[in-house]
Amino acid sequence: MNAPPRDLLNNPRSDWTRAEISALFALPFPELMFRAASVHRIYFDPREVQISTLLSVKTGGCPEDCSYCTQSVHNQTGLKATKLMDVEAVLTEARAAKEAGASRFCMGAAWRNPKDKDLEVVCTMVEGVKALGMETCVTLGMLTAAQALRLKQAGLDYYNHNLDTSPEYYRHVITTRTYQDRLETLGHVRSSGIAVCCGGIIGMGESQGDRIGLIHALATLPVHPESVPVNALVGEGTPSADASPTLDPFDFVRTIAVARIVMPKSMVRLSAGREGMSAETQALCFLAGANSIFYGSKLLTTPNPEADCDRALFAKLGLCPMPLDAKADG
Ligand code: SF4
Repeated sequence: MNAPPRDLLNNPRSDWTRAEISALFALPFPELMFRAASVHRIYFDPREVQISTLLSVKTGGCPEDCSYCTQSVHNQTGLKATKLMDVEAVLTEARAAKEAGASRFCMGAAWRNPKDKDLEVVCTMVEGVKALGMETCVTLGMLTAAQALRLKQAGLDYYNHNLDTSPEYYRHVITTRTYQDRLETLGHVRSSGIAVCCGGIIGMGESQGDRIGLIHALATLPVHPESVPVNALVGEGTPSADASPTLDPFDFVRTIAVARIVMPKSMVRLSAGREGMSAETQALCFLAGANSIFYGSKLLTTPNPEADCDRALFAKLGLCPMPLDAKADG
């Protein structure tokens, strides 16, 4: 089977059908990997991996009921809620992240949506991190159009808001807000001119059809998200983690590969769950077109491989951090 025609790849499509995505998932594994690796090379240097660091600037106590999340008040995980961090403490963490090689600093707050007074504090954080010469990303829950514009004005580069799963499976995961709510926030972010970081979680007991539905929902957004985080469920002690079967690493790698093929210019990020993956599985993910990771010992509240392990893995695989100004070609 041949790679897709080049002209098709130069104009990423937003009209993928579920049948087409399903057919990609059904490819023999070596063929799928070959296709994904071929697409990856059209837009990116496959040796380069973008490195982000994620800091939880306000942990726990979230009123939403996301069943995979340790920060929800609905899930009894024993996590201690904290207040919004001081700006100076955040900037100290950002400086350390930069020294460790991160080019993007992501800040997460466990809110349903930010209050305007808290948003102002986050805007000050964004301005401070930008002044260090790093890209910025925040994830704060649902936004109004005015809040998205305020973040843009502060210089925010990316806003993370995940679709999590397929539209059909969503109600099994979250009941306190709708898929449409998520799409509306993504629309506000896109309209404000902030780049979109949007992906999902694999391994929450969803079917293959739901994985197809998630990738379809992402790939048929009017503009593909610039960053697509693909998470493997972790969330120890949460209803999702307690109820879900162990994720087959090949299913995870397949999802990365299909995301790479249908969203060829996006950064596909290997996100939560990396701690539990073997070096071999991570290597397959990079081969399948993942070209972004989180660095640092924690992803919000989830353990993440220590930076030294990552450096050793990069050295073993011949990978290097992507320079800040590297963008998808074409
Ligand atoms: S995923 Fe976000 S919105 Fe959902 S419970 Fe966790 S912190 Fe709240």
